[in-house]
Amino acid sequence: MSAYDGIILGTGHNALVLHAYLARAGLRVLSVDRAGTAGGGLSTEENPRQPGFFHNTHSFFHRAITTMPWYRDLELERHGARYIEPELNVAMVLRDGRVLEWWTDLDRTVDSFAEFSTRDAAALRRWVHEFRPIVDQILSLEAQSPPLPPEERRRKLEGSALGRRLLEAAQLSPIEFVQREFEHDAIRAGLLFFNGLREIDLRLPGFGHSIPSLLAGEHKAQMCVGGSARLGEALVRDVREHGGEIRTGVEIKGILMRNGRAAGIELTTGEHIDVRQFVASGLNPQQTFLELLDPDAVPPDVRTKAQAFEYNLVAPLFALNVALNEPPDYTAARRRPELNSAFMTILGLERFSQFADIVTAHERGEFPPQVMWGACPTLFDATQAPAGKHTAFMWEKLPYNLRGAAANWDAAKDDHGRRMLALWAGYAPNIAEGAVIDWFCRSPLDTERKFPNMRYGDLLVGSFANSQIGYNRPFAGAGQYRTQIKGLYLCGGSTHPGGNITGLCGYNAAHVLKADLGL
Ligand SMILES: Cc1cc2nc3c(=O)[nH]c(=O)nc-3n(C[C@H](O)[C@H](O)[C@H](O)COP(=O)(O)OP(=O)(O)OC[C@H]3O[C@@H](n4cnc5c(N)ncnc54)[C@H](O)[C@@H]3O)c2cc1C
Repeated sequence: MSAYDGIILGTGHNALVLHAYLARAGLRVLSVDRAGTAGGGLSTEENPRQPGFFHNTHSFFHRAITTMPWYRDLELERHGARYIEPELNVAMVLRDGRVLEWWTDLDRTVDSFAEFSTRDAAALRRWVHEFRPIVDQILSLEAQSPPLPPEERRRKLEGSALGRRLLEAAQLSPIEFVQREFEHDAIRAGLLFFNGLREIDLRLPGFGHSIPSLLAGEHKAQMCVGGSARLGEALVRDVREHGGEIRTGVEIKGILMRNGRAAGIELTTGEHIDVRQFVASGLNPQQTFLELLDPDAVPPDVRTKAQAFEYNLVAPLFALNVALNEPPDYTAARRRPELNSAFMTILGLERFSQFADIVTAHERGEFPPQVMWGACPTLFDATQAPAGKHTAFMWEKLPYNLRGAAANWDAAKDDHGRRMLALWAGYAPNIAEGAVIDWFCRSPLDTERKFPNMRYGDLLVGSFANSQIGYNRPFAGAGQYRTQIKGLYLCGGSTHPGGNITGLCGYNAAHVLKADLGL
């Protein structure tokens, strides 16, 4: 008889959230990961050349984490997690020194928009008021529940005024939405950038509502004090406190089947780990269905759908991480002193038309016009660097297949890091005048090497195109965390509501699994 009720593949935050709920329900569960540390994208690394400087090499901006149901249920603050939400949440710096600002306080954001266009300022206020109940009463609840079949969802939405308004806005693509509702070029560019670019293909009809819903969400980007890894550590503490087991640094060879059901895993060492009830995969569908399962165990149509699963073209990130003697000092802060304490800073973005150039460059595997964004975490949390020193980073969306092949990244990445430093210094001259102690880069290929589930460097673990959303994420028939294979479940970013640090894939998977196990 196996020691475990179930096993979870990967220890990304969604897998840990699932594990924590199951452990609290009294199940004996083991999580396994190839990485040396649990937490997946919740990683904070010390610079080996500069001890005491900590860099958040994957996720940093955690949206509205403190409002997530699992954050409260799992008592993560008791386990050491603590979040802050800086007031000047996003600042987009233009070449002429003007700054477009998003504050946690709507009135201040409206004032900033009004400096560019009074009509756009009024549109912002109108959309926030109109969409806040849609976010609170529909979209947040949808993200926090297993998805409904599309026809049933549409029927429900058509039954209420708020639902009909949501469907109406959703018909457009994000690009069409901002073109129709906002007039100023910089505002249109900014709205698309921080609302859209990380999440979805901005050209896709069906996602027009993503712009007003992100504007209307009451909580903005937050950061974990001590670094993103502290959230992962808090989750691990909760899992262990309730008897859960985690093994890191192990390679999985395959998922074992017995009598037509998932019955355990085999490690590359030859060790077999059997389970009584389930295997839940926090990996992508190609790893799960094509690499880890024997072809005979997977129905042919499931293999075909897993093969067709698509990744985001413009999701991969290139990261420049720097250790600093002092924080970036922006020239534009002479007129707008608050800029030097902005949380997210966007540089190089001026015009709406840059988006088409960025997409074209990704399609061709070339460097797009430089647009980058980042933060200086130590402005808000001194623990991430030695006393008086700072860390900062800038990210840029760059193609995975650089000039036709991802392998080109290793030779190209430091040169590109220098180009990013030069652009940064154009806005904050002290970056070129002795502020920088050390720097290192991570390419989209490095992302995939570290987390193979983020195939092609896709940090969302699968695009939202190709109908890969809601009930059909990752694909039709596997969209409710259950799969067509008995005893096999999914729980990572390739399931609803998708990638990023939300924990909701794991939260929803926990509900489904507990229901199936009669708990
Ligand atoms: C540079 C970068 C910046 C980002 N910034 C943000 C941000 O600011 N905000 C935000 O919300 N999101 C951000 N993300 C995205 C976010 O990190 C991911 O969407 C999120 O981590 C996905 O969570 P997950 O639970 O699916 O698992 P992941 O975090 O992807 O973890 C998966 C785990 O599975 C393990 N694994 C993979 N393959 C195997 C295998 N074969 N065998 C065993 N284990 C395996 C990995 O080691 C990993 O621990 C960023 C990502 C990157 C790369």
